[in-house]
Amino acid sequence: MTQEKWGQLRQQLLKTVGQNNYKTWIEPLEFSDLKDGVATFHVPTNFIGNYVSQNFADLILYELNSTGASVQRVSFRVPANATAIPAKPVFKSAKAKPQTSESGLTAAPLDARFTFDSFVVGKPNELAHAAARRAAEGGPVTFNPLFLYGGVGLGKTHLMHAIAWELRARHPELNVLYLSAEQFMYRFVQALRERKMMDFKELFRSVDVLMVDDVQFIAGKDSTQEEFFHTFNALVDQNKQIIISADRAPGEIKDLEDRVKSRLQCGLVVDLHPTDYELRLGILQTKVENYRTMYPELNISDGVLEFLAHRISTNVRVLEGALTRLYAFASLVGREITMELTQDCLADVLRASERKISVEEIQRKVSDHYNIRLSDMIGPKRVRTYARPRQVAMYLCKQLTSRSLPEIGRRFGGRDHTTVMHGVKRIEELKQQDGQIAEDIELLRRALEA
Ligand code: ADP
Ligand code: MG
Repeated sequence: MTQEKWGQLRQQLLKTVGQNNYKTWIEPLEFSDLKDGVATFHVPTNFIGNYVSQNFADLILYELNSTGASVQRVSFRVPANATAIPAKPVFKSAKAKPQTSESGLTAAPLDARFTFDSFVVGKPNELAHAAARRAAEGGPVTFNPLFLYGGVGLGKTHLMHAIAWELRARHPELNVLYLSAEQFMYRFVQALRERKMMDFKELFRSVDVLMVDDVQFIAGKDSTQEEFFHTFNALVDQNKQIIISADRAPGEIKDLEDRVKSRLQCGLVVDLHPTDYELRLGILQTKVENYRTMYPELNISDGVLEFLAHRISTNVRVLEGALTRLYAFASLVGREITMELTQDCLADVLRASERKISVEEIQRKVSDHYNIRLSDMIGPKRVRTYARPRQVAMYLCKQLTSRSLPEIGRRFGGRDHTTVMHGVKRIEELKQQDGQIAEDIELLRRALEA
């Protein structure tokens, strides 16, 4: 791979991504080197790097490899000696405090995509969203801290950035400091090392809104916790808003001092629940709107989004990644996004998020459906009222799980595998003759696969 090759490749990319995307995202890339299967590009800012990495990396990778280069990964980085184009610091002060730069304290940059406008609200996150909106108004502090928590990829960082953007727009006079707990620790250690603790303390005590992301990170880090605790108290005493996120509730964070825990709990604690189908579909639809401007020539067939929302339920990041890959791929091969293309292109993602249905789940659903007790279904009774549902459950276990007949038998009160086999056969026959059974099974299957 050479500079010249990259020059040619860029022309190819121009055709695929269109003039606008090309100008904004591809042109600024400078090929640096190719080592150990990693092609590195220099980018002028982290923002561009992140964006390209999320939206065009697959495409670039594909193009590189199609020229015969052997590239496993592409990486984007701001060169160390770049004439620093600093990411806009969040820390803003009307008075432009000089100690800000002296103590090296700039806030983490905000992602331009993480705004309230782009946040899709559904049942699982409506409370967190409402609380975030309230905090973003910047009015009198009513709950302190606001503590947002939830699993990976459910939108905590997105909401935090959205609050910071909004506060910045509405109240440019406020000092809003957003950073991750890791950065907090890093700054703290640096201040210790450089004997600048006074600056550090003064700076943190002079913010109007302090936002700390992923606070679980400071668990077990005693002196950082101590400093965080003091900063926290000082700000609360001054009635300054604090907004915290974590991957779990305050009480559940291990190795966090009790006094810190109880401080964190005394404001408003809200969680982001795992996404549901409707929310996932909503997020996908919003993303597709964006892609429509990016790839106006690409059509997406009915049913693809529903399929993805059903099948990828782990986290939103994976969901977004899947859609990005799909668009990049479809635009490469110049085809419409159909179900077939989706299954081809996302085979690995789909396999990884395949929902594993358990024997227990099937037993529970089936006994509920026929209104019998679970113990009777698994137990020895042979009357038809129990035996038939039992056979239905066995049949579904055979169909929907990868358990063998002996394994299934064991889970049905230690029955022999021939009993299971007989049961499965019986249901197969009945399905042909008895409409009711066929319907029951279809219903149950759908419920289990939902
Ligand atoms: P977390 O910090 O909770 O791990 P992020 O905020 O980084 O998760 O979200 C992961 C990705 O999913 C981001 O790209 C974010 O924009 C997106 N995302 C999550 N929830 C939503 C939502 N409700 N609406 C739109 N995008 C979302
Ligand atoms: Mg996060």
